[in-house]
Amino acid sequence: MRAVSLHRDVLVVTSRIWQTTCTVVRSGDTRSGAAATGSGTGECFVIDSPVLPDELEMLPAVLEHAGFQFSGLLATHADWDHLLARLAFPGAPLGVAETTAARLASEPGAAARELRAFDEEHYVVRPSPLSLGQVQALPVPGHCAIGDAEIELHPADGHTADGMALWIGWAQTLVCGDYLSPVEIPWISEGGSRGAYLATLRRLAPLVDAAEHVVPGHGEVLDGARAAAILREDVAYLEALPEADLPIARRSAAQRRIHAENLSRVAAGG
Ligand SMILES: [Zn+2]
Repeated sequence: MRAVSLHRDVLVVTSRIWQTTCTVVRSGDTRSGAAATGSGTGECFVIDSPVLPDELEMLPAVLEHAGFQFSGLLATHADWDHLLARLAFPGAPLGVAETTAARLASEPGAAARELRAFDEEHYVVRPSPLSLGQVQALPVPGHCAIGDAEIELHPADGHTADGMALWIGWAQTLVCGDYLSPVEIPWISEGGSRGAYLATLRRLAPLVDAAEHVVPGHGEVLDGARAAAILREDVAYLEALPEADLPIARRSAAQRRIHAENLSRVAAGG
């Protein structure tokens, strides 16, 4: 697992599995008068999760080392590989988009089942099973308060039927979920559609233009210019389906399998 600091209030850890990212954000000193009142308003959210048990086990220590005081969890969407931080912070509140809350309610236990299947396939042993319990549905578009600041929440569906992208304005950082990945082509997964995916990319474009850092769900953190280049590539790929060529840097066997799934979904009208 790799950890990089993007800003004094933002860290990203990257899992050894699928380069899955987990972003840790704390409220900055956004109000100059805050210190004078002596009110301790610092909050810190963990967005998404690494995948492997040792990575999850280390996560609280990573926060502690950085001096970040944990408050709660957020997830960009309901795919199981992004929902595992509960294993590191049992009992913590988990905030998700309304669309994600609806998806979790409509497929109870799915994330835990898919995690179990992954673990069995790769002989991974965990100390406890995943239990998501209650989640808090956040209105999207909207805002999530963090200390004296706010994180902007933007709808991000099309990869799946649900999801949100998070704009951390004071750090000019966009956490976009499974879009704009340098390692994964656009994936029209179950519940997703090409039209919704393209609409999400268009919605993200102005945020990418304003961003210093873009954190994709999988792969290294991008600067704004590189993320904008990937966005253009991804729009071109999706618009050209089913005739599309894979982007040059994303043509592995794994990406061809995703491409095949995209073709079948587009053929089915998605
Ligand atoms: Zn993912």
